[in-house]
Amino acid sequence: MKIICIGRNYSDHARELKNEVPSDPLFFLKPESSVLHKRHAFYIPEWTSDVHYEVELVVKILKRGKAVLEKFAPRYYCEVGLGIDFTARDVQTQLKQAGHPWEKAKAFDGSAVISEKFIPLNELGKDIQDLSFSLLINNDEVQLGHTADMIFSVDKLIVYLSNYMTLKTGDLIFTGTPAGVGSVAPGDKITGFLEGIQMLSVNVK
Ligand code: ZN
Repeated sequence: MKIICIGRNYSDHARELKNEVPSDPLFFLKPESSVLHKRHAFYIPEWTSDVHYEVELVVKILKRGKAVLEKFAPRYYCEVGLGIDFTARDVQTQLKQAGHPWEKAKAFDGSAVISEKFIPLNELGKDIQDLSFSLLINNDEVQLGHTADMIFSVDKLIVYLSNYMTLKTGDLIFTGTPAGVGSVAPGDKITGFLEGIQMLSVNVK
């Protein structure tokens, strides 16, 4: 199983980090070892002093796909979940400045939070580009996103990604974060919602 993450897929988030809005999707990978174990707390690593939360819609790949055509892209998913792409922003900034890959800042243990449940779209009764999701820290809403605001739709992401790497059953796509990212601190309780359904709860230590 691989986790493919999309960067800068919401223009309001690209702007808040003073990044250009991309003309092609920007992606990176998180390894399987980055997945936070279920019901475990998230421990801020000692080598960073600025871990950011990024809440994202997560799409689960249903079957193997290579060079998928856009009209067939909807056949490659049917369930959605929610995830947090924890990012060591201080380290990422150094890597970006050096022109280095982002893995140190993005692929560390515990950096991928994935909801236990994935919900079939037909159960939600909604189009994948018509979903709202949010993140609360200690009950304050810090991020509120709507998938209609994606720069690249899920179908376009599947087309693009599958031209570079074969999508396999069970792969996950983190589809990018909306504006409102910020730092976490020990003691924070993070909860995530998709279409009003609580999907995640993480304690930060
Ligand atoms: Zn992200």
